[in-house]
Amino acid sequence: MLNLSGKNALVTGIANNRSIAWGIAQQLHAAGANLGVTYLPDEKGRFEKKVRELVEEPIAPSIFVPCDVQNDEQIQEAFNTVADKWGKLDILIHCLAFADKEGLSGDFSAISRQAFSQALEISTYSLGRLAGAAKPLMNEGGSIVTLTYLGGVRAIPNYNLMGVAKAGLEMSVRYLAAEMGPHNIRVNAISAGPIRTLASSAVGGILDMIHHVEEVAPLRRTVTQTEVGNAAAFLCSDLASGITGQVLYVDAGYEIMGM
Ligand code: NDP
Repeated sequence: MLNLSGKNALVTGIANNRSIAWGIAQQLHAAGANLGVTYLPDEKGRFEKKVRELVEEPIAPSIFVPCDVQNDEQIQEAFNTVADKWGKLDILIHCLAFADKEGLSGDFSAISRQAFSQALEISTYSLGRLAGAAKPLMNEGGSIVTLTYLGGVRAIPNYNLMGVAKAGLEMSVRYLAAEMGPHNIRVNAISAGPIRTLASSAVGGILDMIHHVEEVAPLRRTVTQTEVGNAAAFLCSDLASGITGQVLYVDAGYEIMGM
């Protein structure tokens, strides 16, 4: 029985009701976890309002804090709040990424230095940075889950820069799992099939990719946020106590096919 009651879970990356992080937060809540939510702040406070309105009633987060992963002070503040309010953290969901549009279509060799380092900082480096901040709070063990995509393993049209970021992210999962295993902290990734979200809409030809998956994947469809959320809840539960350093494909089986 999947039971997360008594577990404190911090979820990053909710932008709107299409976000994969929102699917994950709802499934962690359904399994009994106590939720904390971070949001990316903007100057006018619009993102904060939008995310607050979305999450407030359905999952009643006991922590709601800003966390721009490019801002070290904000990261530290977010985890200080976790320390003050909860004392311990059991689950960290890293469900965020960003690459400038120039890196998500056209020639890979034309990507600028600035776009490259920004994408890697936000989408890849941030996992280790957040995991490092979570580690001292996971004093009873813990589970960290991040989100990746097949484009980190294969050259998928237009995924370009984010493919490199995801390759680095998947390797970060392995190094973090090796570092944190002795503290009973497990680190895994879910490689989700393509889903229509704000982030994926920036990738050139994403709708064609979704249609291709619907034709070719063994299940003849792509996946939902809820299915990814269920897999994340499993990875965060004691049912997955022997699993770390892995990439779990939640993609309707697309990854096994020869295209
Ligand atoms: P969303 O756009 O819903 O989520 C992306 C999130 O990243 C947003 O909440 C965004 O905030 C946040 N973000 C961007 N920059 C920063 C930053 N500097 N600090 C903190 N947060 C930031 O898209 P998805 O749900 O699709 O993406 C979630 C994860 O899932 C990503 O890692 C993505 O690569 C991965 N994924 C997505 C797939 C898909 O097909 N959709 C498939 C496989 C993996 P804001 O919007 O407020 O700017």
